[in-house]
Amino acid sequence: MQRLIDLHTHTHHSDGVLSPSELVARAAARQVAVLALTDHDTMAGCDAAAADCRAAGIRFVPGAELTAGWRGQEIHVVGLALQAGETTLRTYLDDVLSRRRRRIAAIGEKLRTERTLDGFDPSAAVLAGSAMPTRMHIARELVCAGHAATTQAAFDRYLARRTPGYVPQEWPTVESAVAAINAAGGLAVLAHPHRYKLSNGALRELCDHFSAVGGAGMEVSIAGQSPNDLSRLARLARLTGLAGSVGSDFHEPGMPWRPVGRSDKLPDGVEPLLDRLPPP
Ligand code: AMP
Ligand code: MN
Ligand code: MN
Ligand code: MN
Repeated sequence: MQRLIDLHTHTHHSDGVLSPSELVARAAARQVAVLALTDHDTMAGCDAAAADCRAAGIRFVPGAELTAGWRGQEIHVVGLALQAGETTLRTYLDDVLSRRRRRIAAIGEKLRTERTLDGFDPSAAVLAGSAMPTRMHIARELVCAGHAATTQAAFDRYLARRTPGYVPQEWPTVESAVAAINAAGGLAVLAHPHRYKLSNGALRELCDHFSAVGGAGMEVSIAGQSPNDLSRLARLARLTGLAGSVGSDFHEPGMPWRPVGRSDKLPDGVEPLLDRLPPP
């Protein structure tokens, strides 16, 4: 059976639903040989995932997906092979956490005062229940309380842009995210570049900027992308000299189009990011 590489996954330590142990069990069942845990802005699940990977014979890569901003757009930067607890990285993650907490409270306040939900405010439960709160946690509370049938419906009615609970958010710069990752001994990878609302020219500028400030790679093969996006990203990687990373961006079994371990083979001429990772 094929040995798979997955350098982008989530657990319930951010907006996924599985525990690290459950994630690793799924990875083992799917013959994953190399697994990175890259929860949003936290490494809280990495120790548990590392222990289970050791027992399962999977090579583990400790990571995190850092939230950042560039020209007003939210950009995600995956850090791989990170030293947890390194000061610059910890300062970055603490900063994002406090921004997230303020935003969640502001969303709750908006929903409550606009009386969209008859005064219901999901933010207290989210802030008490999740160490790294996201809007997905708010969406799940809205579903639990019967205000929406699905988390997607909760976003469409209450949380997405141009809805009553939308609160814009500024994030630290891409440059500072890359710097924090490099300070922690890791490799910085531009996450899912095809998902940003950027023209081809602007995306090229982002990749050039990312490389210039010390980024090592970009995701080229991500579960669920179109063949056109795969070849577009491969071309960008070759042009910019960024290494190519692969991953599923797995969040939960309820999203079967991105199972753990799923990604296409890296196209020819793209240097595999895996080759730049420190040896196990
Ligand atoms: P946050 O980091 O707080 O903005 O929350 C991000 C989470 O919300 C991720 O799980 C996203 O997949 C999810 N999300 C963001 N926008 C939408 C949307 N328009 N529809 C569905 N999910 C979304
Ligand atoms: Mn996510
Ligand atoms: Mn992301
Ligand atoms: Mn992700």
